[in-house]
Amino acid sequence: MLNIVLFGPPGAGKGTQSEFLIEKYELVHLSTGDIFRFNIKNATELGQLAKSYMDKGELVPDQVTISMLESEVNKHPHAPGFIFDGFPRTEAQALALDGFLASMNESITCMLALEVEETELKTRLLQRAKTSGRLDDADPAIIQNRIDVYNRETAPVAGYYQQRNKYHGIDGVGSIEDISNRLFQAIETTVNS
Ligand code: ADP
Repeated sequence: MLNIVLFGPPGAGKGTQSEFLIEKYELVHLSTGDIFRFNIKNATELGQLAKSYMDKGELVPDQVTISMLESEVNKHPHAPGFIFDGFPRTEAQALALDGFLASMNESITCMLALEVEETELKTRLLQRAKTSGRLDDADPAIIQNRIDVYNRETAPVAGYYQQRNKYHGIDGVGSIEDISNRLFQAIETTVNS
């Protein structure tokens, strides 16, 4: 299986690039943010809980997020691989993911980390707010909180994969196509090494 963690701060382009990766490698795309938003739209209990954190730019608690992710993976027993987009966002999530995959005799192939600096992220998120309808994109204070939470809780997850020689930093600035090609190249390098 090809199991990719697509990583990066809010607004780095994970969702956009996932589209190209799933098409090329026929992977199942699991975006925890999208799954939470689907639950909010359908007014589920999970959605109601997630919304209370997401609207403030906080992380949804690990236990809830991990069990949701595991049940999503279990829905695709014949998948050729997964793109994990927006997960893991904490070291506890990274450990849980490794343990869960190991129980299926699987593992993460690599982490692809989109690197974009903070001012560019803020510009992109405010731009996205015009069409996304996302409350967490529209308010500069919430955007700042998401970036702070990322720096504090999520950025250390990169170290987790660096220690395991699975980390690839990718320049996330440029044309969408150039960035896709950088991602494809990193995957080819990993798979052929
Ligand atoms: P972005 O990457 O643009 O911030 P996402 O759609 O990935 O957006 O996530 C939106 C929100 O959903 C996050 O701010 C957080 O509240 C929640 N969320 C998504 N993934 C996770 C996760 N793995 N753990 C905890 N909360 C999450």
